[in-house]
Amino acid sequence: MSDTGASGEFALIDWIRRQPAPRPTGSWTRLGIGDDCAILGFGPAAASGPPRELLVTTDMLMDGRHFHLDRDGPEAVGYKAMGVNLSDIAAMAGVARAAVVAVALPRRRATEVARGLHTGLRALADRHGVELVGGDTNAWDGPLVIAVTVLGEATARGAVKRSGARPGDAVLVTGPLGGSLHSGRHLRPEPRIDEALLLHRAATIHAMIDLSDGLSSDLSHILEESGGLGAVLEPGAIPVHDDARQLAPGDPLAALGHSLDDGEDFELCLTVSPEDAERLCAPGALPRVYRIGEITRAPGLFLRDADGGLRPLEPRGFDHLRGDAGE
Ligand code: ADP
Ligand code: MG
Repeated sequence: MSDTGASGEFALIDWIRRQPAPRPTGSWTRLGIGDDCAILGFGPAAASGPPRELLVTTDMLMDGRHFHLDRDGPEAVGYKAMGVNLSDIAAMAGVARAAVVAVALPRRRATEVARGLHTGLRALADRHGVELVGGDTNAWDGPLVIAVTVLGEATARGAVKRSGARPGDAVLVTGPLGGSLHSGRHLRPEPRIDEALLLHRAATIHAMIDLSDGLSSDLSHILEESGGLGAVLEPGAIPVHDDARQLAPGDPLAALGHSLDDGEDFELCLTVSPEDAERLCAPGALPRVYRIGEITRAPGLFLRDADGGLRPLEPRGFDHLRGDAGE
């Protein structure tokens, strides 16, 4: 797509979401466009126990945009393609079960690339008990494109959506942020599925998203989907990744900027009541989480200044239609 004007990726998704669509009788859709996964329910609810919910997510990676095949090699690409999808299942606190994989292979080395991809995909899928159950294989004169779709299951506690944040909630993240594109860490995402399941069991998670586009953008999605809330972040509490520090030696503010705006950390950002936050952040509690701020009734995302004032924080994460971070 060449001319998207000032709209950007999220405005386009919003437009798609607003198009009138009939809801067929017997619709499976419990949650459609706008979260990390769609939630589908089907069949009559079991007489005992909660109805089962199927989670569906898909993500496509393209050579030259999300990876460089010549530099990174096919195994790393397969690993990343599975990882980014599993991360969306983690964001719903779901259990990943099955995957299908569609590839457009570069013709001149199709078989070698396909085998390498498979090795990378399986490395992560096997570790998370995900079965590869289908796909589609094509070759062409263009660059490698791979699309993975993962199916998962919500636990009996239900899927966690982006839309449940409440004023007064604490904002938590599961790990250090920033600099992953520069360091190459973005090729080895560690989907936080186990962590999400543990947190979901230990506390009532009100809202959750995975950090793919950058904290400032992804937290903004939680705020919008939760009815236009706001948040105040404490700069000193945000865990800055060593990769971000190495990008900005001797410049802690610039390093903090990377943790706020860089994408592809694939940690989770969640909101819980202050009481739950206390427990989850207690010394020795696992998994490790970092309390970085608070949800407010007043809209807007802010960073607290050293003097206690609030500085607006623009969502500057990655927008695929604009092609770069920012603005
Ligand atoms: P994520 O970063 O978690 O993968 P995205 O920002 O890619 O999420 O997408 C946000 C939401 O928009 C998701 O619910 C996704 O399924 C939906 N979405 C994205 N692109 C399209 C599209 N072309 N048609 C319909 N839904 C889409
Ligand atoms: Mg996501």
